[in-house]
Amino acid sequence: MSEVADAFRELYGRAPDGVWAAPGRVNLIGEYTDFNEGFVMPLALPHTAVAAVARRTDGVLRVHSADIAGPVVELRPGDLEPLSGAGWAAYPAGVLWALREAGHAVPGADIHLTSTVPTGAGLSSSAALEVVTALALRDLYELPLSLPELAGVAQRAENAFVGVPCGIMDQTASACCTEGHVLHLDARDLTRRQIPFDLPAQGLRLLVVDTRVQHALGDGAYAERRAACEQGARELGVRTLREVGAAHLSDALDALSSARVRGCVRHVVSDNARVARVAELLASGDVRAVGPVLTEGHVSLRDDLRVSCPELDLVVETAVGAGALGARMTGGGFGGSAIVLLEEGVVGVVSKGLAAAFEAASLAPPRLFEATPSRGAHRLL
Ligand code: ADP
Ligand code: MG
Repeated sequence: MSEVADAFRELYGRAPDGVWAAPGRVNLIGEYTDFNEGFVMPLALPHTAVAAVARRTDGVLRVHSADIAGPVVELRPGDLEPLSGAGWAAYPAGVLWALREAGHAVPGADIHLTSTVPTGAGLSSSAALEVVTALALRDLYELPLSLPELAGVAQRAENAFVGVPCGIMDQTASACCTEGHVLHLDARDLTRRQIPFDLPAQGLRLLVVDTRVQHALGDGAYAERRAACEQGARELGVRTLREVGAAHLSDALDALSSARVRGCVRHVVSDNARVARVAELLASGDVRAVGPVLTEGHVSLRDDLRVSCPELDLVVETAVGAGALGARMTGGGFGGSAIVLLEEGVVGVVSKGLAAAFEAASLAPPRLFEATPSRGAHRLL
């Protein structure tokens, strides 16, 4: 972290006023449910975006990323317009814009950042960037905003300034997760519950498998699925799919006009039920039984919502075939990452199996790491 401060000094010729960190996340269960006012259960990763930041008084925002080959990006007040094509700088700029839109005085900032969250791997490097910026600006300008409120500002930045129609999960996970827990989040009223998630105590592990592929198909698919969910809600006469209980699913499906909408509704309603099931299992200490629920969630994402891809399916099939308790794609799909729940004793054989399966399919080796539930956004210096 002091390297980030040193790099800041070199870049801007003065010391930063502070250094902050915000993590990426994986989602244990509840996918494509947050924008339907449903339930999700993410955990923060040990991988973080770290930002050194100093105040400015002239309305200007300067941002630099150690991870992008390029100069400092300077944005004057007139440049801070939504969808302005600011490239990666749109994430921190969008946060400043969203804070100002909400009526907060943020006169400007110099930012230098670096991140260990893999980008475009479904691990929310974008939310990490937004949340670290939001937290730094809140602290520096003493804004009266809680961590969940900062998550809302960050989501608004991504929706309205960057132009990505994401739900509230990623930013809330990055802002509000705590070490050793998964976060049970009700995306309707934003009620949060920290659920202990100590896998090593049970002889278990959670692996993240980054397939390192990203299919172009994914670009419009999120918005398309979102639109299909909204259509389903309209046809069923409810405000959001949150209101469709699992007990009424088959009646609801009969009332829908197309197979595409039926698939989306079946996925969302059943995944909300899976979040409840996983919460129960964790509360009762039956963590091993979570595995099959994850795999069931994957089948639903693959066959009903249709957002998986051959590489993610290969991870799930291979891991479960090699003895994992369960596995599923996580995040938006069409590439990115999967998670695997497994006994500590089979980590070696599952990892080797995955490497071999990818090689046999002429794919580059996937990147594997353990998901240890880590703390949310915080100040470092
Ligand atoms: P994800 O959030 O799943 O990683 P996104 O496409 O939502 O994928 O966000 C990735 C984008 O976030 C990158 O293309 C880049 O614009 C920005 N980004 C993430 N990390 C960094 C970084 N360290 N430096 C600069 N930009 C970053
Ligand atoms: Mg993102």
